[in-house]
Amino acid sequence: MIRIITDAPEFFSDLGDVLRLFYGDIQISLTEGDRVFEHHFAETDGQWIDTWCCEESESVLAQPVFVGTAVEIKRLRKRQVKLGLYNLLKKLTGVRPPWGSLTGIRPTRLLYEAMEEGMDLETAVHHVEMAYDVTPEKAALLGDIARMQRGIREARPDQFDLYIGIPFCKTRCSYCSFSAGEIGDGRRVGPYVEALLREIALCRDLMAEAGMSVRAGYVGGGTPTAIPCGELARILDAAQAAFPGAVEWTVEAGRPDTIDREKLQMLRDRGVGRISVNPQSFNDETLRRIGRAHTGAETLAAYALARELGFEDINMDLIAALPGETVRDFEHTLDVVERLSPDSVTVHSLAIKRSSRLHEQLTVSGGHTQIGAEGAAEMIDTAHNRLTAAGYRPYYLYRQKYMAGNLENVGYARPGKACLYNIGNMEETVSVLALGAGAISKWLFDRTLRIERAPNVRNIDEYIARVEEMVERKRAVILQGR
Ligand code: SF4
Repeated sequence: MIRIITDAPEFFSDLGDVLRLFYGDIQISLTEGDRVFEHHFAETDGQWIDTWCCEESESVLAQPVFVGTAVEIKRLRKRQVKLGLYNLLKKLTGVRPPWGSLTGIRPTRLLYEAMEEGMDLETAVHHVEMAYDVTPEKAALLGDIARMQRGIREARPDQFDLYIGIPFCKTRCSYCSFSAGEIGDGRRVGPYVEALLREIALCRDLMAEAGMSVRAGYVGGGTPTAIPCGELARILDAAQAAFPGAVEWTVEAGRPDTIDREKLQMLRDRGVGRISVNPQSFNDETLRRIGRAHTGAETLAAYALARELGFEDINMDLIAALPGETVRDFEHTLDVVERLSPDSVTVHSLAIKRSSRLHEQLTVSGGHTQIGAEGAAEMIDTAHNRLTAAGYRPYYLYRQKYMAGNLENVGYARPGKACLYNIGNMEETVSVLALGAGAISKWLFDRTLRIERAPNVRNIDEYIARVEEMVERKRAVILQGR
């Protein structure tokens, strides 16, 4: 356990994130611990001075006192306190994390903020690199993503994107962090679909009252195609009738073992243009190890069927640093993906959440280990180099806690195949009306300066019992002040 003694305890959780960049998933406390990091703050001669020390070393960071609003000052203080600790840890360990001192989910936001202050793209990229010690490669990645998002990042203020969550899967992947109450095996599909249809009908009226129309629709999960074809068709029919005119519809067909001709044809008949067929890995031994319950051959067959039925926008999700995989194993998956040539590829770095079975397997009971930070970085770099050489471009990016090597998840797409929903959701440039258990609606106000959230309960039974209340939560946020 690590103890932090700090003059800024309000930033405790953010300081924990910085420590985890260097020490992984460790316990942190303000009151006890066998290793102590101490922080003192002083305002002297017009300077904010933050001093961090531990037994072996010290780091001092000074910055002119900033005059601004309370929110701006808090933000800058947090940045400096975190950076002081980061500098000390970097000196102490000799490690330079790829994203430097950045611990947030959306690094592109910093780039856009710098551009809003008047910097051109190249200057903003350089600014993020310098201010946060981001490596030149990762800073360049942000620049490439901003270029790809030009002209498609913004939505009209009277538009929203629609998310529908189907929280059912046939089996549970070992890295899944949902609880049994949040991810069902199919037995509660009927009542769940009824509740969802009720939420769709009530939200149709709500959106009409708000005077807003849908831009893009996205059905995610879980695995939407895990439920019977007729039930999924009822959901899509209701959603498309309630919210007509979407320019893009995506359905995650995720697990190849849930895909068949009938379901794919049903999606085509409803104008669903974009689907995900997710191999995660093309190594059967790995798939068995992570509880995916399908083989690489099934992914190939599902992909071929989707192409045969005319799908022209297919995404494939891959995961780097899966347990037991070597760089060569990951390259094999990339070989197959390159041959298939899907329209977009999303490359994830495995995040091992504490609530997953995998966390238990890797940390408590031993068994297969995960490749280290350097190996994970090599996989991610290899994927980037090969996909960009094959004509894909990175178009959105996000980070999560507990990711292998402190890396990132990146969506790559061929020109014209970037998913609007993914960009809007990640960059928070469009309101999201989110339906289903665990779905979180996000509403933008004041030209995106303020975002308010309305979360649905995650437990499936609770959601079914309280669906009207979930709509009232949204109503309170969306129609506030009217
Ligand atoms: S497909 Fe996704 S939601 Fe379903 S078990 Fe696997 S990780 Fe969890």
